[in-house]
Amino acid sequence: MNSLSEIRSFLLALKQMGIEDLVVKTERELKSFIEEVKKCNKCRLAETRTHVVFGEGKYDADIMFIGEAPGEEEDREGRPFVGKAGRLLTRLMEDAGLKREESYICNVLKCRPPNNRDPEKDEIEACKYFLFQQINFVKPKVIVTLGRHAYNTLFETDEKITRIRGEIKKFRDVNVLPTYHPSFLLRNESKIKEAMEDFEKAKYLLLRYRH
Ligand code: SF4
Repeated sequence: MNSLSEIRSFLLALKQMGIEDLVVKTERELKSFIEEVKKCNKCRLAETRTHVVFGEGKYDADIMFIGEAPGEEEDREGRPFVGKAGRLLTRLMEDAGLKREESYICNVLKCRPPNNRDPEKDEIEACKYFLFQQINFVKPKVIVTLGRHAYNTLFETDEKITRIRGEIKKFRDVNVLPTYHPSFLLRNESKIKEAMEDFEKAKYLLLRYRH
């Protein structure tokens, strides 16, 4: 299955059957898949977005960071975590000895909610299939969820981030470390120390896997 039209037909056929469990296996399939996602209009956010922000990073990264949704700068540039919160994320990664260019970074929602409002439940429901495809493809050893929406989407729960941050969980066989969203940290600088501890823990999980 190589051409865009074949992928499109295949996805459409799956959708008509009520099945959305295509597993994107090759980099070429992923690129075709991304082109499809860029045309997505499964939820209302398609009407107000500038760009679909699929995600970026190493396709075989050992560590994956999942945020909530693109913000204003991300929507403008079509890249995740490039604004102020993104710069903080990069700093937290670097301070813990993690390299942004060796990670994979994405969000639960691929389009920006107007005025950066919280994602609606039906928007997450419509979009989470793309996130699960990304996880299937990258096959990270460690996932860091940034903020409650990423964690709650993976575990289909409704936890508060202050209750679960720093606790190691398993999603399928992947270690998941929930921590604060960098945008929250920009508004609550006193929590940065806790976030730094979480990033250190993520680095430790990664080293433990590698040795
Ligand atoms: S947020 Fe997700 S489901 Fe909604 S239009 Fe964008 S890509 Fe599609």
